[in-house]
This record gives sequence, C-alpha cells and structure tokens, in this order.
Amino acid sequence: MSDTATAACNLPILVLKFGGTSVGDTDKIKRVAGIIAGEALKGQRVVVVVSAMGHSTDHLVDLAKAITPNPSGREYDALLGTGEMVTTALMAMTLNTLGHPAIGLTGGQAGIKTEDLHNRARILEIDTHYVLSQLNAGRIVIVTGFQGVNSQGDMTTLGRGGSDTSAVALAGALGAARCDIYTDVRGVYSTDPRVVPTAVKLDCIAYIEMLELARVGAQVLHPRAVETARQAGVVVAVRSTFDLDDPGTLVLGEDTMEFNRAVAGIASDDSQARMALVGVPDKPGVAADVFGSLAEANISVDMIIQSLDNQKGHTNDIAFTVHLDDLHAATQVLEAVKTRIGAQDLHIDQAIAKISIVGVGMIDRPGIASTMFDALAQAGINIKMISTSEIKISCLVDKAMAKQAVRAIHAAFFPENAQDQPVLVSEKLGY
Ligand code: ADP
Ligand code: ASP
Ligand code: MG
Repeated sequence: MSDTATAACNLPILVLKFGGTSVGDTDKIKRVAGIIAGEALKGQRVVVVVSAMGHSTDHLVDLAKAITPNPSGREYDALLGTGEMVTTALMAMTLNTLGHPAIGLTGGQAGIKTEDLHNRARILEIDTHYVLSQLNAGRIVIVTGFQGVNSQGDMTTLGRGGSDTSAVALAGALGAARCDIYTDVRGVYSTDPRVVPTAVKLDCIAYIEMLELARVGAQVLHPRAVETARQAGVVVAVRSTFDLDDPGTLVLGEDTMEFNRAVAGIASDDSQARMALVGVPDKPGVAADVFGSLAEANISVDMIIQSLDNQKGHTNDIAFTVHLDDLHAATQVLEAVKTRIGAQDLHIDQAIAKISIVGVGMIDRPGIASTMFDALAQAGINIKMISTSEIKISCLVDKAMAKQAVRAIHAAFFPENAQDQPVLVSEKLGY
C-alpha cells in the first residue's frame, strides 16, 4: 500500500446525497461539485450519491407509459435507472476537471445488492470493497442513487425517492457517522413548506417520528432511508444545497432528545384510494379471505374500518385504503372475493387524501385527537375515516380539501411565533 493510501485509510468517511433539483442542470452540477470538493478538502473520504437531473425520472416514466401501461419490471428498472447514471458521469467529470480525482460507479459496481423484486427492491447487503479501494486510492466516489443489482445481475430500483436510501445504506455499510441529504428546502419542517409557508423548520426529529412522517407522505425523506438510518445508527442531516449556512435538521435517536412538543409534523398523502366492500356476510373467515387475497397479490392495505352489523346482524361493510398504484390489481382481486363471499357491492373512491399528525410527544397526552378533529370541523371539512397508532393520527378527507385541511391542522398545533422545539441532550449524541 502506498503512503497516500495508508494515510487515506485512516480518514473519516462522509456520505453526501444530492436530490434531483440540486443537480437539475450543468450549472447546478458544477455548484454541487464545489460543495463536494470543499468537504474533501476538510480531510475526509467522501462518497456522493446523486439522483437523476431535475424531473428526468418522471420523463422516463412517461416514455415507458407511451409504449405500454404494463412494462416488464426488469425493463422498467433498466430504463428508470439510466437517469441517475447521467448525473453520476457528469459529476465525476466535473470533479476531475476541477482537479479532484473522482470515479463514478453504478449501484451494482458500488456493491449494492437487492432482493429480486423489481421497481421497489429492498437492499439486502452492500459489498464495500470496491468503494473502499477507490476511497483509499484518494478518489471521491460518486454512486448512482436509486439502483442496485439482484441475484441475476439485473438492475433493480428502490422505489421513487429511493436515492435517499442508497445514501443512508452506504453510510451504514461504510461505518460513516453521518449522512448529509442535500435538497431544495432547508430541512424537515412541521409540514411541507410549499403548502404552509409559515411551517417551522425542526432543529431535530426522532427516527421514529421521521419514519412515520415519511410513510404518511412527507416526501423530504424516503421511508426506507429513515428505517435504515435507525437500524444502522446513522445520523441524517437534511439540509439545503442552496443555503450552506443553515445546519438543517438532524434525524437521530429519540434517546438524544427531550420532547416538549406533542406533534412533530403534519403530512398529506393523496396517492391512496378507498375501497369498500358493502353488505359483507357477517361470519368468521370473511376478513381473513379479503385481506389474505390482497396479501397474496402483494398489495399492502392501510386504514381499515369494519362497520357495526347492519340488517339485524347479517351483514357489515369493510372499508380500507390502498396505494393508487395497486388499485387496478386490488380491484381485480376484490371482484373475485366479492363473488366468492357473496358481498353486495364494491365501492371505490379515488378523490381522497390522508392527512396525518405524528409525534412521540402525543403518547399519554390527552386532547391531541380532539384538537385535530376540531381544526377540521372549524374549517368545515368532513372526516371520512380515522385511524390511530401510539404516535400518529390519520384522517381521510376529500382530495380537494387536502391543502386546506393541512393548513387548518397546522394552525392548531403550530400557532405562529410558538417555537416548541425538542431539546437536544447533546452528551448522548454519538458522532
Ligand atoms: P429531492 O429531489 O432533493 O430528493 P424531494 O422533492 O424528494 O427532494 O423532497 C423535498 C421536498 O419535500 C420539498 O421540496 C418539500 O416540498 C417536500 N416536503 C414535504 N413535506 C416536507 C416536510 N415536512 N419538510 C420539508 N419538506 C417537505
Ligand atoms: N430519481 C428517482 C426518483 O425521482 C430517485 C430519487 O430521486 O431519489 O424517484
Ligand atoms: Mg427525494
């Protein structure tokens, strides 16, 4: 091993990720290259994960749809994965031009191995040998986000927004203490700042809260990235590419915080549809048949409500929500189930949105649900379904009322000028 390589081996590793808007054109790529070079000059080994430029993944989706509504998973992934490869090559070129040795790697070359499933594959393991050898040779390593390879050697993608997960998983596998996710907002806010301009930027948020918020629609982080960060103990910093002075938001363990606020954030998800089986015979095994058939078809179900018996105890109604992407398959499954179990009808409502509040501080704190319902009532918004967990309350409302609902609930929990941030217990911070 050369002296340079031996010296590099001892340097800490930092993983940075830049989202689509941060690398939307070649000028932005040059700007981001400057940020990367600055981090490398601080004396650390730097791995960078990049997304596709701007909205180019949406464009690739449209191209596929223009050919067929049902492309094969393998070819769809092979197409969608190209977006990230463009940015990777351009970023490596830019850094090399600036005199910073860099190499671009595909997900497969970076050792990211996934399950066989296409379009939303999970990462199974990361073989870091090649990345480490390049880092130790003094190069900045640029990795295409969003992709890996399966056991056949075919390219897989991790689900929309999955570059966050590539970055956090690499940080975990490489033993990096922190992963910086650079995006187009200054951090994680109490709700989408594009919907509520007075949203409060959070200094820190617990993994468990961020995980729930991401699952219920806060686009700023991919849910699996948060899950991975929590498992690997990687601290995630969400920060702005366009305001480097702002430290952003830290996502970290709940044991590092003291909570003095009930609700961390509010999110809205309009990618769900409500399905209702009406007039379902009230007998054992029916719910098992409905949800067992959906599970067999690999369809996840979210909110579930079974109504009280009607028709003197002979039938009831079962309603639940599924992702819009699964609606076509779920309808086919449920038409067959409806006939088999003798249900009267199947109703589908696509004009809905799920509005959720999330917070560790709501555990054992009464009045949170009623504040949410009251805010909706004051705004004249009807609640179609409700579901709760220990740290989350979700209400289904008309899609057309979604933004108004978020604004009303935000005003109730985050009155202007109130700054109820959790306190960081700094001695417990492990990085
Ligand atoms: P990137 O391309 O960098 O991955 P995304 O578009 O995936 O960026 O995520 C950033 C966007 O997430 C923001 O522009 C913002 O509109 C949206 N967003 C939704 N909820 C939140 C939230 N609670 N905090 C911050 N941003 C949010
Ligand atoms: N380019 C992919 C998408 O648009 C992955 C990502 O940006 O995280 O979903
Ligand atoms: Mg994203």
